[in-house]
Amino acid sequence: MNKIEHIGIAVKNLKNSNDLFAKLFGEPYYKTEEVETEGVNTSFFQVGENKIELLEATKEDSPIAKFIEKKGEGIHHIAFDVDDIVSEIKRLKSEGFIILNETPKKGADNKLVAFLHPKSSNGVLIELCQEIKK
Ligand code: ZN
Repeated sequence: MNKIEHIGIAVKNLKNSNDLFAKLFGEPYYKTEEVETEGVNTSFFQVGENKIELLEATKEDSPIAKFIEKKGEGIHHIAFDVDDIVSEIKRLKSEGFIILNETPKKGADNKLVAFLHPKSSNGVLIELCQEIKK
């Protein structure tokens, strides 16, 4: 793994949170994107070298809706940048981690992504992401 790619925060209302986090960072988000397959609207903020992703549910059965129902708003996942997501999935699986999607899928921000089940990583939802080369 190379570095933390971004931290994902689950929010109830993306518009309100975009305003709030723009105030916090002193800069607006640089991109917003719907990931229909995941049932989420996202926005991304650049903070120096780091990125923060806000996630809002677009439907009731969205993982974000379920997360907020159970735990409330807050940090949802930590995403790590990897060079080769397929081999990293294989490696982590052999180490005993539970992979939620063994076939990487297209995520927000031009990435291939895979998630590890939080119950195999001390309650932390881990996202692996590999930049899709253009
Ligand atoms: Zn993410």
